[in-house]
Amino acid sequence: MTDRDRERTALVERLREEYDLGERVCSAVAAVPRHRFVPERVRDGAYDDRPLPIGRDQTISAPHMVAMMADRLSLEAGDRVLEVGTGCGYHAAVTAELVGPENVYSVEYHADLAEEARETLAETGYGGVSVRAGDGKQGWADHAPYDRAYLTCAAPEFPDAVVEQVRPGGVLLAPIGTGRRQVLVSARRRADGSLEREKHGAVRFVPLQ
Ligand code: SAH
Repeated sequence: MTDRDRERTALVERLREEYDLGERVCSAVAAVPRHRFVPERVRDGAYDDRPLPIGRDQTISAPHMVAMMADRLSLEAGDRVLEVGTGCGYHAAVTAELVGPENVYSVEYHADLAEEARETLAETGYGGVSVRAGDGKQGWADHAPYDRAYLTCAAPEFPDAVVEQVRPGGVLLAPIGTGRRQVLVSARRRADGSLEREKHGAVRFVPLQ
């Protein structure tokens, strides 16, 4: 076991104690080497439970937030998932642990972040995750319908195209709001296209571009 492995194991123990997380989600966080996804200058803090800067004024969410989002989405093996906001690719890797890398489709606004995330994902064994540079508000229609879709940046509302690309009975999750703080909202898509919403508390995310 390396020092990083020990730090990660300790982090997962803390998350297990402090949050109501399913065992599969804890195992997924325990499996993904977060230090490989963050810039070298902040690598020593990779296993602190806090957000970290990843360049372009963007941040990787705190581990507990990634874990909570995965938990709220109740991701099952084989679920097809759309992620809006790849960032450094860490959250996509945790999702990949839960559903299988080939089922994860992620859209990133900044082309250079998308490229770096693609490289890191390949180097860490998650090369099956698909990353596209572009505007996530449009979703990724080629691979729809999705069982699950989530945003890692705050939006005023679930983007219409993303809602349309989720199958009836599928679930969306996003920080919704326009201020510095937002509300984490999940929504099940009904057959008629309307959404059955549930609020999960206040959060703070970077805004959707
Ligand atoms: N999940 C990421 C965290 C990303 S922070 C990780 O694990 O690192 C939010 C990301 O959303 C940023 O990388 C930002 O560039 C991206 N983003 C913002 N607006 C977007 C848009 N319209 N489409 C796609 N990505 C967007």
